[in-house]
Amino acid sequence: GSLLVAEDLHKAYGSTPALVGASFSIHPGEVVAVMGPSGSGKSTLLHCLAGIVPPDAGTIGYGGRDLTAMSDAERSTLRRTEFGFVFQFGQLVPELTCLENVALPLRLSGTRRKAAERAAAEWMERLEITDVSGKRPGEVSGGQGQRVAVARALVTSPRVLFADEPTGALDSLNGERVMQLLTDAARESSTAVVLVTHEARVAAYSDREVVVRDGTVRDMAGV
Ligand code: ADP
Ligand code: ADP
Repeated sequence: GSLLVAEDLHKAYGSTPALVGASFSIHPGEVVAVMGPSGSGKSTLLHCLAGIVPPDAGTIGYGGRDLTAMSDAERSTLRRTEFGFVFQFGQLVPELTCLENVALPLRLSGTRRKAAERAAAEWMERLEITDVSGKRPGEVSGGQGQRVAVARALVTSPRVLFADEPTGALDSLNGERVMQLLTDAARESSTAVVLVTHEARVAAYSDREVVVRDGTVRDMAGV
């Protein structure tokens, strides 16, 4: 069955409609590309699915629970423990080394430093960035920085990875390397990936594509 199912989502920012009846579903371990032109509602859909933005109407089921009926604290716990996030700009902590950045989510959830850094080192190996472990984010390339961000997002073994234009700031060669490593790592760990992109080349790494147009997407293929 589906891991995450949204039905008939509506969301407006003031008088600007962003979602007007959007439905979406994803299975465990599935990589789904959310495509569509700029301003069509892709980011708003991702933010609703991830429990960051509350929809005005509609339901979001995750593991048998309704995200829209949870308290802010419950949603926050869910985001920290079961979801991972990668955005266009990695948002790494500049004062920490890349290894410390990857270990950070585990440190914040109470894992001891040695164990956290051991797990971080394993993820960095999978993403082929062991050589930048001791460097700070300002000392690595854009492609390496995004791979650090991917490792950090996966280190907690999330059930769902939300990626919003994760290669948007990279050239095509580095973008493809990041997508290959991201999707390989996600598939190995059965992490579902909600991948927002407007690039067909990036969407090519998904199992399935859905297209948002004017705030509407009817995707019940995975149900
Ligand atoms: P996409 O990701 O496809 O570019 P968005 O979800 O970012 O689309 O935006 C959908 C619509 O909602 C657009 O018209 C956009 O201008 C508007 N919008 C998105 N976020 C906000 C916001 N925080 N405040 C006001 N309008 C917003
Ligand atoms: P990749 O293709 O793996 O993303 P590059 O070939 O762009 O990496 O970079 C090679 C090396 O040059 C890296 O190990 C990195 O340390 C260094 N480097 C690349 N870009 C930058 C940058 N903008 N600032 C500092 N160092 C960089």
